Amino acid sequence: SEFVTVIGAGLAGCEAAWQLAQRGVNVRLHEMKPEKRSEAHHADDFAELVCSNSLRSDELTNAAGLLKEELRRLDSLILACADAHRVEAGGALAVDREAFARAVTEKIKSHPNIAVISGEVTEIPEGRVIVASGPLTSDALFEAIHRKVGGDFLHFFDAAAPIVTAESIDMDSAYAASRYGKGTADYINCPLSREEYDAFWNALTTAEEAPVHGFEDSKVFEGCMPIEVNARRGYDTLRFGILKPIGLPDPRTGRDPYAVLQLRRDNAQGTLYNLVGCQTHLKWGEQKRVFSMIPALQNAEFMRYGVMHRNTFLDSPRLLDATYALRADPRIRFAGQMTGVEGYIESTASGWAAGVAAACEAQGRPMPALDRQTAVGALACYISDHTVTKFQPMNINFGIIDPLGYKIKGKREKNLKISERALAKIDSLKGEL
Ligand code: FAD
Repeated sequence: SEFVTVIGAGLAGCEAAWQLAQRGVNVRLHEMKPEKRSEAHHADDFAELVCSNSLRSDELTNAAGLLKEELRRLDSLILACADAHRVEAGGALAVDREAFARAVTEKIKSHPNIAVISGEVTEIPEGRVIVASGPLTSDALFEAIHRKVGGDFLHFFDAAAPIVTAESIDMDSAYAASRYGKGTADYINCPLSREEYDAFWNALTTAEEAPVHGFEDSKVFEGCMPIEVNARRGYDTLRFGILKPIGLPDPRTGRDPYAVLQLRRDNAQGTLYNLVGCQTHLKWGEQKRVFSMIPALQNAEFMRYGVMHRNTFLDSPRLLDATYALRADPRIRFAGQMTGVEGYIESTASGWAAGVAAACEAQGRPMPALDRQTAVGALACYISDHTVTKFQPMNINFGIIDPLGYKIKGKREKNLKISERALAKIDSLKGEL
C-alpha cells in the first residue's frame, strides 16, 4: 500500500509522521540515532531538544505564543507532549526535556501506522518523501540533497545579520538613498558622526560573544566575517568596508557622513530590514545594546539576531512552495530547520504543514491554503516567498504576519488583535481539514 517516507525523527519529522499517521497514511520514519549522532545530539529518544528546554513565550501578545496556540488547536503531537511535561517558567512554555522526548517517542513507536526504521539515510528515496533531517543533517544526506537541488541552493553554514522592523527605525535620523544615487533609493541609511562611530566601534570590539557549543564551524570565511572580528582589525576597517559613507550624502547636510550603516529591505511588503554586512557572533543582548547605539536604531525592534554556526538550510524561496514541496519535484517535501524556519516550534509548525499536505496529496484531497494571517501560514509563506532575496532562517514574529490594516494603540493590544484574528482563521482551517 502507499506510504510516505519521513527522514529524521526530530521535532519536524515526528510532527509530520504523526499528522500523516493520524490521517490514516502509512509512514516509514527513518532515524540515524543511536547508530550515528550529530555533534549536538546526545540522547536516544526522538524529538531531542539540543539546547534550551524552553519553547519560548506562551502568551498571545507574543508571536511564539500565538504559534504554539495554533499548533495546540491543530492537534500537534509535539505541543501535546510539551504541555503534558511542562515545568514552571513564568510566561514561557518550558519542558522536562527527557520526559518530553520519551513521551513523543512512545507515541510515535506505538502508532499502528508508523514503522520506525533505524539507520542513516544517504540517498533521497523514491516515492513521497519528507526530508526533516535538521540543521546538522549527516554529510552523506547533505550531499544527496545538494545533488538534487543543485548549485548554491543549499547552505551548511549560517552567517546572518540582525533584522529589524521598518516601523521601529527612526527615520528622523535616517534617509533613503542608494550609493551615488544609482537606481532607486532602495536602502535606508543610518549615518554616524565621528563621536557616534567612536562609541560604536569601542562597544562593538569589546562586546561579549556568544559561547561556542562545540558544534560551530570555527573557520571564519573571509566573505562572511563577523562584524566584530572585522572591526577589531583596525579602527577604520569598517569605514572602508561595510560602513563606507562615500556616495551617500546626508540630505540634511549635503555631505557624506563619517560612517553609514545601510539597511536593506528584507521582504516584499517592506516591513523588515536587515543590517547590511552585520553578521555577528555577539550575544543577543549585546547585539541589541551595541546596534541600538546607532541613532536611527535607538528604538529598533529586533525580529532576529545575527548568528554564525553550522546550519544546513535550503534557499527555500527559490526551491519550495507554501506546502514545503520542492517545486521541481513535488513528491519531495522538506520540513524543519532545514527549510529556513528557525527554532523548535517553528520546526514543529513546518513539520505539521508538510505532513498534512503530504497526507492530503496521498489521499487525493485538496490541501486548504495556509493563510498569512496565521503564524503557521506566515512561516510557510515566508520561506516560499520568491521576493525574499538574501534568504536567512527566520523565527516566527509579527513582522511576517499580515498587519491588521487599521491603526490600534499599544503594541500588546495590536498583537493580541492579530492573534485573535489568527486563531479564528485556524479554527476555520481545522473545520476544512
Ligand atoms: P532535529 O530536531 O535536529 O531533527 C533531525 C533528526 O534527523 C535528528 O534526530 C537526526 O539524528 C536525524 N538525522 C539527521 N541526518 C539523518 C540521516 N541522514 N538519516 C536519518 N536521520 C538523520 N532552537 C530553539 O528554539 N531553541 C534552542 O535553544 C535551540 N538551540 C539549538 C542549538 C543547536 C546546537 C542547534 C544546531 C540548533 C538549535 N536550535 C534551537 C534550532 C532548531 O530549533 C533545532 O535545531 C531543532 O531541533 C530543529 O528541528 P528539526 O526537526 O528540524 O531537526
